[in-house]
Amino acid sequence: MPAKAVIVHLDADAFFVSCELALKPELRGTKCAVGGRERGIISSASYEARACGVYTPMPTSRALQVCPDLILLPHTFGLYSRVSRRMFDLCETLTPVVQRNSIDEGYLDLGPCGLADAAAVDAAMRGLQARIWDELSIPVSIGIATNKLVAQIASKLCKPRGFVSVAPGAEAAFLAPLDIGKLPGVGAKTETTLKARGVAKIGDVLARSESELAAIFGDGWRAMVAMARGEDFRPVEVDREDAKSYSQQETFGADVGDFAAIERVVKRMIDELLPQVRADGKRARTLTLKVRYGDFTQETAGRSLPEASDLEGPFYPLVEPLLRKAWTRRRPLRLVGARFSGIEDGPAQMDLFAGETDEKKRRLAAVLDRLNAAGGTARVRHGHQI
Ligand SMILES: [Mg+2]
Repeated sequence: MPAKAVIVHLDADAFFVSCELALKPELRGTKCAVGGRERGIISSASYEARACGVYTPMPTSRALQVCPDLILLPHTFGLYSRVSRRMFDLCETLTPVVQRNSIDEGYLDLGPCGLADAAAVDAAMRGLQARIWDELSIPVSIGIATNKLVAQIASKLCKPRGFVSVAPGAEAAFLAPLDIGKLPGVGAKTETTLKARGVAKIGDVLARSESELAAIFGDGWRAMVAMARGEDFRPVEVDREDAKSYSQQETFGADVGDFAAIERVVKRMIDELLPQVRADGKRARTLTLKVRYGDFTQETAGRSLPEASDLEGPFYPLVEPLLRKAWTRRRPLRLVGARFSGIEDGPAQMDLFAGETDEKKRRLAAVLDRLNAAGGTARVRHGHQI
């Protein structure tokens, strides 16, 4: 019989804030958050700020009300995707089977490592956790299990700097005492409904008869039972080197219904993704937005430019119409995502950008962008007149 899979979920703690603190260690231990000041929202809060009632995504104005001494840090363009790449590069020194799920979390399949036993797995992962801290000053939480579902729940259990390992065969017992809301897809509203019907803990699902479950969960009851047992057969999907898309998504701690706030989150994602597209010497043609509601249903909408681009300017105007097209239900969102596809090779790397840092490249791109937007007969891009 083949050995059980060893799947790890690795999730950085307060990622954007941690990236900022890596550069400003004097702010460690303070109530701080990354967010825009003017009509902005909080996109990441330190654990000290969270203890004060600041969460994501909360309007900045509200955050400053609940926590008047909150230190507000502006969003540093390009920084988070750069640190993210280095974090996943470190993961790939351990195993080639790494799935980057979002900018700050992903799955590792340790199968190819040939580690002898649970002790060897734990040692390897504690080593990786320490290395990410030593080299990047980013705290991460780690969940180890036989599948993605249980590993993900485990990694979130003891944040920050959590380390939870679930032994093969112990999945259901591990999940049983946890609140039903810990299961992915069970939002705050569903959790309240379920608790009212006597399903407060994950283990309560397995204590009910089939007819009771069908009455509570409807057609989805079998899937619910499988989750409560800790069953999940999804493989870790390796990111290919020549990825045909660039994407990012963000899950909110509380559902968000504010259109302008979501629009800002999407534009920030564009600001994070396009520097990666540029750094790879590529251009993108299509932008697709994804929205997911609290009940896990989702919708997408995409649009292509007549000509591929690696600049923010042509994509920004697509955000509002695409968001309106995707977000058809008058309900708040649990998650929003942006994806660039239709990736083409860009022009050869320009002298103008040679040897510059990502941050400087981006600023240059922004300047070029404004020149383009200003119009005129000569369109300027990347140092070429075209
Ligand atoms: Mg995280």
